[in-house]
Amino acid sequence: AQRAATDAWRGPGRTADGHLVSILANVQDAASAQQAAGSQAEGVGLFRTELAFLNRETEPSVDEQADLYAEVLRAFAGRKVVVRTLDAGSDKPLAFTGATDEPNPALGVRGLRLAFTDPGILDRQLDAIAQAAERTGEQPWVMAPMVSTVADARFFADRVHARGLVAGVMVEVPAVALLADRVLAHVGFLSIGTNDLTQYTMAADRLSPELAILTDPWQPAHLALVAQVARAGQVAGKPVGVCGEAAADPLLACVLTGLGITSLSAATAALPAVGARLAAVSLDQCRAAAAAALGADDPGHAREAARAAL
Ligand code: PEP
Ligand code: MG
Repeated sequence: AQRAATDAWRGPGRTADGHLVSILANVQDAASAQQAAGSQAEGVGLFRTELAFLNRETEPSVDEQADLYAEVLRAFAGRKVVVRTLDAGSDKPLAFTGATDEPNPALGVRGLRLAFTDPGILDRQLDAIAQAAERTGEQPWVMAPMVSTVADARFFADRVHARGLVAGVMVEVPAVALLADRVLAHVGFLSIGTNDLTQYTMAADRLSPELAILTDPWQPAHLALVAQVARAGQVAGKPVGVCGEAAADPLLACVLTGLGITSLSAATAALPAVGARLAAVSLDQCRAAAAAALGADDPGHAREAARAAL
């Protein structure tokens, strides 16, 4: 029955009683954007721009970048597209960013941190995104990865706002989750990157199979941070999405909805199962599942408790 419901699911994302949760796709280039555009995805919640340039020795020109960004915006014309600025470093090294060898790359100069010593690459990328917006008449949202402080968020937002674009930041570092209310004073939205938020909350390498129990997004400590960020968004009246792998888990998607998350972004193939599961439960059930999961002491019990509440 679940399989049939998945096959039959048509957007938009909503609970059985009509509470809307945008179901968005994670994309990485024009081809994946076109594929997502032909699916039930309501938009793009995470465009991982660095993945389009992984094999480049030199920085792509502003024009070349604008061509790519415009293609993605055109594929989703009239729909939401969230472009993430280059998340280079750590597990995604980019030759042209000049990143150096570091003993702990996940804790090193990655993502937005690369722009602090030389903002040139970031500024040129934002110029390219603004150019793509102008060419297409679309209004992409732009967000930064690996933001750690309120000052980081302001640094980024100032540059994005100067180009007339909507700025947001990813919540991947617990420090930013804890101060989400203050970060929200400077940006229009937040997007929780649960792959990195689990890694940094649990001090466990996301690439380590031995530590998978720690990097499980059902870890109650991780869920508590997500809850705090979602609440800050509700108080500020600003959207808070999830764009990590957690959004691809239909049961967890219900919990996230119950916590107040406003959009879920995942690989295109995962979206129908998420949409179908949400369509089968009420917002109150999602809230009960969220409360039950938050109260569990470990990921296994959190899953069981959520399932029982639904
Ligand atoms: C995340 O960290 O959850 C995320 C969406 O970004 P990435 O997986 O690209 O680091
Ligand atoms: Mg990340």
